[in-house]
Amino acid sequence: MKVAPLTRVLAVLSVAACAFAGTSFAANLPAAGQTPSQEEQTAPQLRPSEKEARAEEARSNKPCIRIVATGGTIAGAQASQKEYGYKSGAFDVNELIAAVPNLEGLAQLSGEQVANIGSQDMNDEVWLKLAKRVNALLQSPDVDGIVITHGTDTMEETAYFLNLVTKSDKPVVLVGSMRPATAVSADGPANLYNAVAVAADPGARGRGVLVVMNDEIHQARNVQKTNTTNVETLESPQRGPQGLVHTGKITWFEPMDKKNTARSEFSIAGLDHLPRVDIIYAHANMSPDLIDAAVKNGAKGIVIAGVGDGNMTKEAAMQLEKLAKQRGLLVIRSSRVPTGLVLRNNEIDDDKAGFVASGELNPAKSRVLAQLALTKTRDPKKVQQIFNTY
Ligand code: ASP
Repeated sequence: MKVAPLTRVLAVLSVAACAFAGTSFAANLPAAGQTPSQEEQTAPQLRPSEKEARAEEARSNKPCIRIVATGGTIAGAQASQKEYGYKSGAFDVNELIAAVPNLEGLAQLSGEQVANIGSQDMNDEVWLKLAKRVNALLQSPDVDGIVITHGTDTMEETAYFLNLVTKSDKPVVLVGSMRPATAVSADGPANLYNAVAVAADPGARGRGVLVVMNDEIHQARNVQKTNTTNVETLESPQRGPQGLVHTGKITWFEPMDKKNTARSEFSIAGLDHLPRVDIIYAHANMSPDLIDAAVKNGAKGIVIAGVGDGNMTKEAAMQLEKLAKQRGLLVIRSSRVPTGLVLRNNEIDDDKAGFVASGELNPAKSRVLAQLALTKTRDPKKVQQIFNTY
C-alpha cells in the first residue's frame, strides 16, 4: 500500500551548503506538469537561470536539518485502512520526508536510516549506535539540527538517553506518531513538519533533547507517554511542555534547570555496552524473588517502581539493603504513581539502607540514568548527587 503523497515525484537535489558524506537529499517537489501556484503566476518573469539561482540562494540560507529515522508507527503501514493493526517501520526516511507538503520550505533536508524497528524493540546496542551517529553529525558544520523519527513506546527513554550523552547545543528533536502513515488522519506528517520547524529554530539551542508531538514541545527529562492510543499522549505531567508549535509557529516557555547535553558529564565514546539495570514493579504481597532473579542474571542496578512514595514490602526492602551492602547493588527507589516526587528518607531510611531516591524521575528514566551513573560510580551517595543534577 502507498501513502497518497508518495505518488508525487521524489526529486534528488544537490544542495552545496549542506553537503556531507552519505547524504541523500529528498524534497517534495511538484510533479512534472503540475499547475504553477498563484504566487508563481504573478511573480515577475525571470530567466530560468536567474530563477534557479534565486531558488538556490533561498534554499542555502535555510538551516541544514538532518532527519535520522529509526522506525516506529510514524513509518508504519496497515494492510488496509480498515485494519486496526499495522507494521512499524514499513517506510524509509525519504518516503517520510516526501509525505510532508512544504517541508523543504523550512530547511535544507537530508535523511538517513539508523534502524527501522518498533521502539518496543529498542535496546542498548541501537542506543549506542544512534548516539554515536548523532554526536558525529552534531560535530559537522553542515548540520544545524537533527530530527529523529522514533516510535512512541520508548521515545521518552531514548530522548533522555540522548539528552545525557550528546555533546552539543544544536537542537536534537525526537518525533513520532500515534497513527500509521496509511491511517485516516495520520498525525505523522504534521508532527514531522513541526519537529523540523523546532530543529531549525534558534530558540531550540541549548534546551537539551526535545520531543515534538501533537503541537507540543517537551524536554526529554520531563516527557512521558500517558495514553496507549490517543494522539495526545506525550506529556510532561510534572513541569508541563517547553513550548507549543502550531503549523511550524513556535512559542517557547521557560528552559529547564537540569544539566543536559553539552553540560553533561556522561560520555559513550569508547563504550560498546551499558551496565544492566532492571525495573521491578512493586505491588501488594511483593516478594524478593524477582530481585534475586535480576541479580542472578547480571543486574548491577535495580529500579523499584514503588507503590506510593517509592515504597515496597519489608521483605523486598530488606533483601535490597542486603544486596546493596554485600554486593554493591545500586538500588533506586522510584514510583509507579505517574506524578509527585520520591524523596529521601521518608518511610524508608535511604541513608541506612544505601538507596537512592529518584526525585522526579519515573522508573523508565531512572533506569537510563542509573545505567549511565554506573559507568562512573557505584557509590549511592554520588549516584544520589547525579539524580539531583540530571
Ligand atoms: N509500537 C510503536 C513504537 O513504539 C508505537 C508508536 O510508534 O506509536 O514503535
